[in-house]
Amino acid sequence: MKILVLNSGSSSIKFQMLDMATKETLIKGLVERIGLEESLISWKSGGEKYKKTMHFPGHKEGLAAVLDILKDRDHGVISDFNEIDAVGHRYVHGGEIYKDSAVVTEEDIAALEGLNHLAPLHNPHNLVGVRAMLELIPRVPNVIVFDTSFHSRMPEKAYMFALPYELYEKYGIRRYGFHGTSHHYVALEAASMINKPFEKSKIITCHMGNGTSFSAVQNGHSVDTSLGFSTMCGIPMGTRAGDFDPGILTHLLNTGDFTSDDLHDLIYKKSGMLGVSGISSDMRDIEQKAWNEKDKRAQLALDLVHYHAKKYIGAYLSVMNGADALVFTAGIGENGWETREEICSDMEFLGIQIDREKNKVRGKRVDISAPGSRVKVLVIPTNEELMIAEETLSLTQNR
Ligand code: ADP
Repeated sequence: MKILVLNSGSSSIKFQMLDMATKETLIKGLVERIGLEESLISWKSGGEKYKKTMHFPGHKEGLAAVLDILKDRDHGVISDFNEIDAVGHRYVHGGEIYKDSAVVTEEDIAALEGLNHLAPLHNPHNLVGVRAMLELIPRVPNVIVFDTSFHSRMPEKAYMFALPYELYEKYGIRRYGFHGTSHHYVALEAASMINKPFEKSKIITCHMGNGTSFSAVQNGHSVDTSLGFSTMCGIPMGTRAGDFDPGILTHLLNTGDFTSDDLHDLIYKKSGMLGVSGISSDMRDIEQKAWNEKDKRAQLALDLVHYHAKKYIGAYLSVMNGADALVFTAGIGENGWETREEICSDMEFLGIQIDREKNKVRGKRVDISAPGSRVKVLVIPTNEELMIAEETLSLTQNR
């Protein structure tokens, strides 16, 4: 079984083809600069890297080039499009309609259009990718795998905000959560690492990359998560503020010094580690400044990330009445052992103790718990493409 996984963004498309018998990636690559004069397609297969400059006026042309490369006589991985068993699309927002992944039908296209307003920077591009594949290889089934659906069974008390109820009814204002594919993947893997059935486990998953979200995963579902209606709240991120008092926004608006667009930029693009440090949104830059140059604001940015991360772990331990495992994943979670050490320090009372030596790894799957830690602390590199491919396979293999 060969599954093609696509992640269509505004001007780029990430692609990857997996052989599901071996879970091996046969080819992966990136289409960039769609719509510009010089577009670019780069890919890796058979251990070799390739690159081509072309012109892709739109996503359809970019995807047609991807299909050509898959079938290329010299370095392709299929000889006929019939060898593609299904296409799995990463899809950001499933709203309240999609509680699970789905095989795309005609009716879905209209339903998906109706969700564009919930994620205007992502969903429309995801949909363009789906439409293009339906046109290019109409016989191959397309599956949509949503970032939100793993959180779709959160209890009402976790997804509702204490705002006037009409806002939920009229505008769909509620917590949806994101990074669901990653939380789902690492939680499943964690349950298997600690030998517990996923459906009977309590796991806290910490996805820490440029965007960060933590989830409380109980009995196989996310029961709470730190990102909400938007991708802004929770733990401070590279450029996003995370939790802060929303009264600040109306206060700033009333000063007359800011438009609503300014405030949007402020909290999404100019806050988080970048805003506090004034240096960078990248964890490695901040750590370098804080540790090597003793920069106070860089240190404050780190302190804010660690502190909020601890608070969320405490909250999720109380929500689930404990946890079997705490998992770190994504760029910072997988590689930043210093971050993991800071977050997990002074947590013995809550049953969390790490082995400082075992923790000193980057990008490896490892149990870093100290002997006697009631909560197992794990590092698990995320693999959203594999998770999307697994979902795609399970929905299409017996059709
Ligand atoms: P995205 O959310 O864009 O997929 P990633 O998951 O790749 O992002 O995470 C990017 C973050 O991971 C950056 O802040 C980067 O500094 C951090 N990171 C990557 N490698 C390391 C490392 N060795 N130590 C600390 N942080 C790291």
